[in-house]
Amino acid sequence: MKKIRLYGNWKMNMTRGETLAFFAEFEKSAKPLAAVVGKALEVAVFPPFTALWAAGEAIRAMEGPAPLLGAQNVHFEPKGAFTGEVSIPMVEECGATHVIIGHSERRHIFGESDGLIAQKTKACLAAGLTPVLCYGETLEERESGRAFEVMGRQLCSALEPLSADELGRIVYAYEPVWAIGTGKSATADEAQEVCAWSKELIAGLAKGGVDAAVLYGGSVKGANAKELLSMEAIDGALVGGASLKAESFLEIYTAYAEA
Ligand code: PEP
Repeated sequence: MKKIRLYGNWKMNMTRGETLAFFAEFEKSAKPLAAVVGKALEVAVFPPFTALWAAGEAIRAMEGPAPLLGAQNVHFEPKGAFTGEVSIPMVEECGATHVIIGHSERRHIFGESDGLIAQKTKACLAAGLTPVLCYGETLEERESGRAFEVMGRQLCSALEPLSADELGRIVYAYEPVWAIGTGKSATADEAQEVCAWSKELIAGLAKGGVDAAVLYGGSVKGANAKELLSMEAIDGALVGGASLKAESFLEIYTAYAEA
């Protein structure tokens, strides 16, 4: 069975207290998965900045299977006059090893450009962090037949300056904008098509030799996990809503693995 990455993006949810309650529940829910966490299953959670330190402490205190920790965003400079921003050393200090870059909410609500996303990706790689690089088309782009053109631009602008080694250190997340938080997931075939295409594009940029991990994200839950995660080109899921409770989050893996 392939290795599954299950990454939970909490977005602007979860106070410190709610974060601690999540990890208490995680300790119980993950017990039956002790043999696979860190091996066949790589779990990571991405709390908001205000809960990142508490999450790191809770993870360090765990005796059983523990998730990896990630941040939802970073600035590309290590410090300076950037009011409201958070740096890579700051999230590393909390224990983060992963960073979500280019989430569609950052692209579309906060106007992040391809250029900015490329700078952030490079800065994470230079610091030894794993960027979780998100890309995906809007409904209008899909319906007008421009989905692959848009995703090609999103990916190439971030990836072209990178070496093959760097391309292999990124986790890629295909997230169609129309499937995020809508309850309407892409079909398994739609997700497979884009993930397989992405792998070819990445291998082309790396001139072969890169075994890229590509996740699907967009309304993933226990009920559709088996269908999506069983697809050959899909290496896991980036999960929003269903990741806020440890039980519904881990159920995504068990629904796949028990199938
Ligand atoms: C996300 O925001 O990355 C996401 C996939 O959200 P949801 O699972 O809620 O659609």
